[in-house]
Amino acid sequence: MKFEEYEILTINPEITDTFSIRLKPKSKKYVPTFRPGQFYHMKNPDYSKPNQTRQFSIVTTPKTRDYLEFYIKPYGPWTKALFEKKPGESIWLFGPMGEFTLKLKANNPVFIAGGIGITPILSIIQSLHEKKSTEQVTLIYANKSSQSTLRKKHIQSLFQTNPAWKLVFLVSQSDQFIPRDEHHGRITQELLNKEINIKTTSLFFVCGSKRFTENITVLLQNLNIPDNRIKKEVFLPPYPGKTK
Ligand SMILES: Cc1cc2nc3c(=O)[nH]c(=O)nc-3n(C[C@H](O)[C@H](O)[C@H](O)COP(=O)(O)OP(=O)(O)OC[C@H]3O[C@@H](n4cnc5c(N)ncnc54)[C@H](O)[C@@H]3O)c2cc1C
Repeated sequence: MKFEEYEILTINPEITDTFSIRLKPKSKKYVPTFRPGQFYHMKNPDYSKPNQTRQFSIVTTPKTRDYLEFYIKPYGPWTKALFEKKPGESIWLFGPMGEFTLKLKANNPVFIAGGIGITPILSIIQSLHEKKSTEQVTLIYANKSSQSTLRKKHIQSLFQTNPAWKLVFLVSQSDQFIPRDEHHGRITQELLNKEINIKTTSLFFVCGSKRFTENITVLLQNLNIPDNRIKKEVFLPPYPGKTK
């Protein structure tokens, strides 16, 4: 496998602190096949260190064959430089890769996302929806504020058409007006006990920052869930030594 050139189709702000980018392969008609939940390594030829890479999870599903879409939260210089790019310019991708994916049958998976950690989970859930899956899906999606909840209406519509699916939005900032369809606070053991049927859930998918995934793992372990039933994707910036 090697890095392949992609053309930027669109690059747009989505919510207050996130932008979306759509990429189309330069030399192929369709994007490579991938499993929902996988990610790509990205290189920006116009960045001051063009060989530096960052990883981004695909938010589209394999059904969308013309382009790949990513949602990106700008943190440091690399992601800020990416947001400066324009449609028609190039980006290089290596992948798809990663094991944060759903195997054939999951038996009522529970997804727990912190902030931008929703991206791979959105692809998996969207794909279950497209396949009219009979799995009972639960999503707990925690954000700092209502404004930073990504694709809220879209997620709500997926869950409304699947009455057995369960959706919990959580907002942690206390000075926020909390809409009726959101809960206030953080993910706690009490919340998990209330919202999840632990006996019927075989797999837990947890994605977000290092701190978020560590905290949720401890809560799940306290509920006696063994590590082999907890799948994690940690949105770590690359190890500094490797990026310089
Ligand atoms: C498998 C995988 C999938 C990923 N998918 C996505 C995705 O879909 N969308 C997305 O936006 N990001 C994703 N990330 C994170 C992304 O690869 C970058 O690490 C992140 O965007 C950092 O950007 P940067 O290089 O501009 O910041 P850097 O220059 O590396 O960091 C700048 C500053 O921000 C801090 N920082 C960076 N990232 C975080 C973080 N996650 N939480 C708290 N502080 C942080 C750093 O400690 C540093 O102080 C993923 C990471 C992995 C490993």
